[in-house]
Amino acid sequence: MTAIPQGGATYVVVGGGQAAAWIARTLRTEGFTGRLVLIGEEPHWPYERPALSKAFLQGTGSVEAITLLNPTLAEEARVECWLGQRVTAVDRAARIVTTADGRSVAYDTLFLATGGRARRLPGLDSLPSDRVHTLRTLTESERLRGALAGARHLLVLGGGWIGLEVAATARALGVAVTVVEAAPRLCARTMPPVVSDWLHTLHESHGVRMVTGVGVAGVTGTAGGIAVTLADGGRLEADHLLLGIGIEPEVGLAAAMGLALDDGIVVDAQGRTSDPGIFAAGDVARHPNAFAGTSLRLESWANAQNQAIVAARAALGGTGVYAEIPWFWSDQYGVNVQMLGLPGLGTHAVARGTPEAGSGCWLMLDGSGVAVGAVAVNAARDLRVLRKLLEDGRAPLPGAWTDTTTPVQRLPSRPNVGLD
Ligand SMILES: Cc1cc2nc3c(=O)[nH]c(=O)nc-3n(C[C@H](O)[C@H](O)[C@H](O)COP(=O)(O)OP(=O)(O)OC[C@H]3O[C@@H](n4cnc5c(N)ncnc54)[C@H](O)[C@@H]3O)c2cc1C
Repeated sequence: MTAIPQGGATYVVVGGGQAAAWIARTLRTEGFTGRLVLIGEEPHWPYERPALSKAFLQGTGSVEAITLLNPTLAEEARVECWLGQRVTAVDRAARIVTTADGRSVAYDTLFLATGGRARRLPGLDSLPSDRVHTLRTLTESERLRGALAGARHLLVLGGGWIGLEVAATARALGVAVTVVEAAPRLCARTMPPVVSDWLHTLHESHGVRMVTGVGVAGVTGTAGGIAVTLADGGRLEADHLLLGIGIEPEVGLAAAMGLALDDGIVVDAQGRTSDPGIFAAGDVARHPNAFAGTSLRLESWANAQNQAIVAARAALGGTGVYAEIPWFWSDQYGVNVQMLGLPGLGTHAVARGTPEAGSGCWLMLDGSGVAVGAVAVNAARDLRVLRKLLEDGRAPLPGAWTDTTTPVQRLPSRPNVGLD
């Protein structure tokens, strides 16, 4: 760490989510003494989203438990929070941020942590709005919770992580669930077939009806709900529809500012955008990822926090880079599943334990024998050890990986460059 700007400087954070909160918190804990303004569109204080599809949706979680900044913390850290305000323009030449309400603030350094918004299907806007749901915000989670309380049947479009978590929570609430996934298998974008198959079985064993490999031809409103026509002519009716078809990075502002974009705001390993006075972090940012050997935009809790910390430090003169192996977790039916690296690139899975039966870890290898990722089912500890190995550029010998009598930290390993 070299120079830490003092006194007169103003740093502005656009976005009111997890990454924004961590940027603000880190700037203060690292010694920034200037004016700090956080501008977030949502009316809520910055919070973490994972519980929105799990405990909070089920009614067992509280807002306090997920809040990252509250009035007390903000006052202590001297973060001026402008909540419920959307930033509509940034004048890069004059270095001024303007909100929809017409408020403005001049900045010395700007941070964009605008995240993403849930993707919608075209043509759905004519449907009864109380029947169609997306799940990105606290408000939407509260709304879906209210809907599930009176629902008999929920239809989930999209067999990705959000769709599957909501399916599991809805089942726990006693609601019948059908999941429709256009791809032939679940989580096909990020997971290998062995994990898709396991997820499929897990959900069916809890009574979820799975319809895979079939797209949606149309959605209409009915007297008491919605009806979906499938591409193969099938028809499904439900009380409510959840769209779990991914997010789009919120790049509108960055695009208008002329920053470099590529499915997200392009940043370097310190979170710096194509304008050196502007940083970006979280779901909206595409960073060069050393483990992947390419650039990635990650949508995960760990990325939102840790990339934000690196960017905030870099803005104060820090030299650290963001070089973490991708990591994501999900909880469904009391099963904890964690993903490390890029398991979807694996062509070969080596199982340790019996993940398909409820406890174990798949190590994924590519065609050259390089460990590209892993998926752990109720085996977080094994994954933690594996992460350390991969960080050191090593991987356990695939033959030894299956040996559950030896603790994972004592397994023989080799440089992770594939087979000789
Ligand atoms: C339901 C759900 C469950 C999840 N579960 C998991 C999980 O189990 N594990 C995991 O690793 N990850 C999970 N995630 C992903 C994780 O929550 C996200 O990666 C993380 O929230 C990203 O944080 P962010 O701050 O980058 O973006 P966001 O959380 O999207 O925050 C961006 C904020 O910026 C605001 N904003 C946007 N544009 C403007 C503007 N112009 N002016 C002002 N404000 C603006 C938005 O309103 C929003 O509040 C989950 C996400 C969701 C939605």
